[in-house]
Amino acid sequence: MTDALLTEIAARRDDLIALTQDLIRIPTLNPPGRNYREICAFLAERLAKSGFKVEMIRAEGAIGDSVKYPRWNMVARHEGGAPGDCVHFNSHHDVVEVGHGWTRDPFGGELDDGKIYGRGACDMKGGLAASIIAAEAFVHLYPDHEGAVEISATADEESGGYGGVAYLAEKGYFDPDRVQHVIIPEPLNKDRICLGHRGVWWAEIETKGRIAHGSMPFLGDSAIRHMSAVLAEMEQHLYPLLASKRTEMPVVPDGAKQSTLNVNSIHGGEAEPEDGYDGFPAPCVADRCRIVIDRRFLIEEDLNEVKAEVHRMMERIKDERPDFEYEIRDMHEVVPTMTDKGAPVVTSTAAAIEKVLGARPEYVVSPGTYDQKHIDRIGRLKNCIAYGPGILDLAHQPDEWVGVQDMQDSAGVMALVLHELLITP
Ligand SMILES: [Zn+2]
Repeated sequence: MTDALLTEIAARRDDLIALTQDLIRIPTLNPPGRNYREICAFLAERLAKSGFKVEMIRAEGAIGDSVKYPRWNMVARHEGGAPGDCVHFNSHHDVVEVGHGWTRDPFGGELDDGKIYGRGACDMKGGLAASIIAAEAFVHLYPDHEGAVEISATADEESGGYGGVAYLAEKGYFDPDRVQHVIIPEPLNKDRICLGHRGVWWAEIETKGRIAHGSMPFLGDSAIRHMSAVLAEMEQHLYPLLASKRTEMPVVPDGAKQSTLNVNSIHGGEAEPEDGYDGFPAPCVADRCRIVIDRRFLIEEDLNEVKAEVHRMMERIKDERPDFEYEIRDMHEVVPTMTDKGAPVVTSTAAAIEKVLGARPEYVVSPGTYDQKHIDRIGRLKNCIAYGPGILDLAHQPDEWVGVQDMQDSAGVMALVLHELLITP
């Protein structure tokens, strides 16, 4: 039975290539958020022709939405002929800046030796195209399937997803009574199932000082020296502590199987000079120093404890260091999420991978977050994975590409998942 689906998808290979190329040729750069309406309209027109009911949804008032750069999203739904579950494929349509080092046209969609090149080819227009071909092939062969098939193309994943999946989740599009299974075709490789991601806490730490003339620093109080005490304490105690916390989550790569902390930035004293200024700086004692920390934490850890660890560290320094004043400001936080291996979307995808690729899947967890966070937190849906074609390491790189055979194979997997979940034998 399911062989017919794989044959149907193989017959649509040229369509899969052309669709991927068409999507790459619409430069949906984020920031600032270009051509969102164009790509959503293009997808809506195509999916309407394939029998889907389509909706264009602008995330009005969401972070990033403006008259000049409106945050458009597209949701398409195909109702079958009998009651049943809804399987939803969610892809983001935005791509990151081009950057330097390209030898191909970043928006040309060039096909060469089985690879399609372009910004967003792998992250994640190839995955979007694969899910569309899978869904179209499935509803063509099984128009009276149970339940519903949904495809969404959403904005702003690369900048947090607030004008995309978060907005749709708030509007109920991922409520458990509407959608029961979600696959996000991010480029995790066609033989891997991504169950979730680690958590994140971003915060700004500021140390305070007092300005004075740089020739008489003893008359002031250097916020930079206070911050150096913070950094020294991190080196001595915090980093070793984080390295000792290992997770049972199958995070890849291996280095991310522990708690991590990055100092994203450090600023102290006088601001950087403007471009074109070639004079000297002025001699001042720094009265402010700020760092932004990016703490990634594990499912075994508690967000409050993660924060308390840093607060305790700062209090320890304050106890020992005269005139040490500081502030910690929360910026952003996401708790870790991991879908159970026994969840239906996981077991059906695993079975489909075995059938198409003849190998067992590898289960992984992402070191960083992606749109699953909103589906989990706002939508409250726990039956969600990331699965799609493409090599994650190529994302955001020059000469990004996606392999045509990889797309076809993962489209086959997605179609078999639809068959498994929406057809009762
Ligand atoms: Zn992505």
